[in-house]
Amino acid sequence: MNKRLISIAIDGPAGAGKSTIAKRVAQVLEIEYIDTGSMYRALTLKVLRNNIDPKDEKKIIEILSKTDIDIKNNHIYLDEVNVNEEIRENIISKNVSYIAAIKEVRDIMVGLQQNLAKKKSVIMDGRDITTVVLPNADYKFFVTASVEVRSRRRFKELLEKGEANITFEKIMADIIKRDSIDSNREISPLMKTPDSLLLDTSDKSIEECVDIIVSRVKEVI
Ligand code: C5P
Repeated sequence: MNKRLISIAIDGPAGAGKSTIAKRVAQVLEIEYIDTGSMYRALTLKVLRNNIDPKDEKKIIEILSKTDIDIKNNHIYLDEVNVNEEIRENIISKNVSYIAAIKEVRDIMVGLQQNLAKKKSVIMDGRDITTVVLPNADYKFFVTASVEVRSRRRFKELLEKGEANITFEKIMADIIKRDSIDSNREISPLMKTPDSLLLDTSDKSIEECVDIIVSRVKEVI
């Protein structure tokens, strides 16, 4: 591999397998993985901990100015504390899309993400990476799967973690709602750009998807 910095941008809906695939690709290509969703999740955690209504834009913008969010070595830090585990709870997934729809929040997060991508070769996943964060990325992918498959994966994940009070139907309803907010919001809605390769993971293993991305990249570098 030569030393030119490369950037790989991945967008797609919840539970499509983006982060699992991106993490593996990062290992194979020896580049940095940046999970942009974790940044919105960290802010959501702070909002909920402070008993702020996730739809109260004014209070969220206020708390945003007193919040430090950083990613180091695949770990997400909220005000300098590692919150990797806490941000994966279902309560965060259920509320994050309201907070991620706020313009002021997105402006800050996009700036942080673009800075992270300036110095290193990266693979970054999220909802607006191919459109806004890295519109000139070397490689762009839209990773998706059927809503049933995505809900089943999320449900299994949460059961394995011991989350109580969940049913498959509730998780599927949450995913449909989150997809709808993410895809219909005014600012940077989730969408597939014409230059992104569509990767449907419904009937593919993680390794197959990783191979598709890695072979595309290796064709060129
Ligand atoms: O990828 P993940 O499911 O962790 O993302 C959580 C939420 O954060 C998404 O549903 C979306 O509302 C928001 N998000 C976003 N833009 C990104 C990444 C995540 O709006 N680049």
